[in-house]
Amino acid sequence: MENSQEIWSNIIFELEKNYDHDLIDDVFSECSVLKDNGMGLIYILVNSKFVQSRINSIFYLPINNLLKKLYDKPIRFKFVTKEEFIEEENKYEEKPVIKTQSFESNLNGAYTFNSFIVGESNRFAQRSAFLTAQQPGTTYNPLYIFGGVGLGKTHLMQAIGNYYLDDHVDSKVLYITTQNFIKEYSLSAKNKELDKFDEKFNNLDMLLIDDIQMISSASKTQEAFFNIFVNLTNKNKQIVITSDKPANQLDNIMDRLTTRFTNGLSVDIHTPNLELKCNILKYKLSQQSPASVGDDVIEYIATLFDNIRELEGCLRRVLAYADINDVDVTLSLAKEALSSIVNSKKTSDSEEKYENCKSIICDFYNISISDLVGKKRTSNIVIPRQLCMYILRNKYGVVLDDIGKMLGGKDHTTVMSGVAKIENELKTNSELKLSYQTILKKLNLE
Ligand code: ADP
Ligand code: MG
Repeated sequence: MENSQEIWSNIIFELEKNYDHDLIDDVFSECSVLKDNGMGLIYILVNSKFVQSRINSIFYLPINNLLKKLYDKPIRFKFVTKEEFIEEENKYEEKPVIKTQSFESNLNGAYTFNSFIVGESNRFAQRSAFLTAQQPGTTYNPLYIFGGVGLGKTHLMQAIGNYYLDDHVDSKVLYITTQNFIKEYSLSAKNKELDKFDEKFNNLDMLLIDDIQMISSASKTQEAFFNIFVNLTNKNKQIVITSDKPANQLDNIMDRLTTRFTNGLSVDIHTPNLELKCNILKYKLSQQSPASVGDDVIEYIATLFDNIRELEGCLRRVLAYADINDVDVTLSLAKEALSSIVNSKKTSDSEEKYENCKSIICDFYNISISDLVGKKRTSNIVIPRQLCMYILRNKYGVVLDDIGKMLGGKDHTTVMSGVAKIENELKTNSELKLSYQTILKKLNLE
């Protein structure tokens, strides 16, 4: 077996085949092998947090894949700063040597508690996740984390796994998306290898299953998951589940499962407020780039979305834009860099408004959307259709052609006469006027 120095050089050599030489040089030239703990964990010294975060976010998975490809023996690199290494040494001083059995955990090393910024909206979830990581399988089992897209569920879930794995290199922690769980199950069933499948999952020390709302309604997959769930929780092995909704609102999942999901602890991550969004952006900035970016720019970006992933995208775009044009990051530059994103957001916000208008009118008149946009000419349908044209034109300022398109491809003269018809009717028809006013209220327009 090669020594750790050779392993490290090999990996750099392999990375250079796939990445730009300057990038590899830039990131890795100051890194060095610090220590091989003899159990498959090799510490690599990095000279700053900045480099560490670049490695963890860009190279962690490729390096793991290379290690797996090149060596039969399980090996893991851990990138540490000097201070972190000293801390680790103290931590391990009195611990007995653990025998390694490695296992592909699928974890992304960048998702840690350290890199998770806490605010009002995620404090409870973070606290619960941290306690779970410290005492897995005991207090909150399963831990069920739910909330909207891009709010940090996957990050928090993986932080639990990474934290635990740091102290228990030999344990079998598995992160898997629900889609991959289904895929693996179907493939095993097809190849008549369900024994292997069961063995893999039933021997885990910790199972992190992401986006459980995606579990198919196929009862066999659910049954398989149910069995694993019961088996692992009976053995006090920690399970962490994420979802976009609370367990009792999951459709198509057997009650037997959803009730068990609530046996442990359910926590939700709410929409972040402006302060948290700014703090997260500032943190991401400090990890990604030495560029100086004013608070006004950070705040401008933070107002655009609630989804943190989108905010990160905006920040990256602004930085790249400044970099490419070789100028400083200012508020006006940020606005310029993000103008197309802001415009398409406006468009999609408007589209949402128009769709909402259509469905409120349909609800009010108790007709279906397909009737509203269809060709039927009975008066119970023509009136709502024309009223919809009128509101889109007069309240939202949509042009006639576009209204026609939104209502199933009517031409603009049809829309024009529909709008005129309602305008006249409103003058004399008090029943229509009342309906119109009620609808405006529902649309928050009056
Ligand atoms: P979800 O799984 O809820 O859709 P993710 O966990 O994938 O969201 O988060 C999306 C992105 O936002 C990730 O890059 C994650 O690191 C980042 N993120 C979300 N919340 C935070 C936070 N509180 N602190 C730092 N980064 C965060
Ligand atoms: Mg996710």
